[in-house]
Amino acid sequence: MSSLPILVLNSGSSSIKFAMYQADYGERTKIFEGAVDGIGTDNGKFWINDATGQKLVDQTPHLPNRSVAFSLVEKTLHSGQFPAPKAIGHRMVCGGPTVLENQLITPALIDEMEKYTAFAPLHTPIAVYIMRESLRLFPGVPNFVCLDSYFHRTMPEVVTHMPIPEEYSAMGVRRFGAHGISYESIVYQLQPTVPEKLIVAHLGNGASISAIRKGACVDTSMGLTPTGGIISGTRTGDIDPGVLLFILRKIAETASDASEAADKLETVASKKAGLLGVSDLSNDMRDLREAIGKGNAKARLAVDKFVWTIQKWIGGYVAELGGLDMLVFTGGIGENDIACRAEVCTGLEALGIVIDPERNNVRGEATISADTSRVEIRVIPPAEDLIIVNHVVRLLGD
Ligand code: AMP
Repeated sequence: MSSLPILVLNSGSSSIKFAMYQADYGERTKIFEGAVDGIGTDNGKFWINDATGQKLVDQTPHLPNRSVAFSLVEKTLHSGQFPAPKAIGHRMVCGGPTVLENQLITPALIDEMEKYTAFAPLHTPIAVYIMRESLRLFPGVPNFVCLDSYFHRTMPEVVTHMPIPEEYSAMGVRRFGAHGISYESIVYQLQPTVPEKLIVAHLGNGASISAIRKGACVDTSMGLTPTGGIISGTRTGDIDPGVLLFILRKIAETASDASEAADKLETVASKKAGLLGVSDLSNDMRDLREAIGKGNAKARLAVDKFVWTIQKWIGGYVAELGGLDMLVFTGGIGENDIACRAEVCTGLEALGIVIDPERNNVRGEATISADTSRVEIRVIPPAEDLIIVNHVVRLLGD
């Protein structure tokens, strides 16, 4: 294959990240990366850095909506300053039960995935919008969807099936998981010696944890939507359904109809809960650490709950995997919050997990287990863009 510039588009609820790679035989070279951030707020940012980190674009535009934000990206990419992409890879959290494979995007495929917006309500609307715009604004360039749920497709039915009446299972309601491209990138980075029994904790603003046997996912904490599993920055994680019913009935007392009540419940469960809900302060771990330093008890409780749920999932996964060879921390908190890694590992010594405080005193890639630890403990930043580029190259070959 000759050299190909490949554009990666990765949209979040208030940001669009992008990167351009040059794919040349086995080589992948990053040309630039950037983002538009703060969509719908007064704090719009637009930046592009070259591969060495040098700023090529650094603006603070007004970004009232995703249309203005994506138009800014597209116009800049078409300005002649950057190579024209020969293929585009889009990150998508979940394509629903009928779209489980990474593949070429067509208008019909976008319509099909959009039917399942409720399975990733914070992520799917902007992702499908950008896919449609990308087909329109980059005519003739093949666009491919890369799903987070793709990595979790190997989970057995006993894990994916939900304990609900069959009529809802038939509508596609099941565990899909999320952060799959991040997990895939950790397994990729561990090659060629991927440990047989592996747990990866992706701890970011959204947080999840996966059990991986011989490189294939066997279980993950997020469920139908990214709101399930361990608690996240603003999401409940797994919770007694009775709590949601209680809140729904309270909301229904003043809501004008069922749809408004459902939307409000979604906001509570996905945007106001988790670390933010418990601390009543912030979803950002840095703010919580600062508050804990000043003796804030609610911030302490929020972080303790976060750590407690992670420990319980690790314990369950060790049982499920029949042991453990390696524990990997990744994501903004996993890579940077030294205290969180120490707190998660403290108390898990009986499982063979022993952290070394000196080695743990780092940010970024490191091995942080003690010499006496049966389980190797590592910190590995994800490489999601690279995985998307690899899928695009494979699919172009197909
Ligand atoms: P992500 O969603 O992967 O970008 O991760 C965002 C989370 O990482 C937020 O909770 C941040 O507070 C947290 N984070 C980023 N840098 C640090 C840091 N230096 N110390 C503690 N937490 C951090």
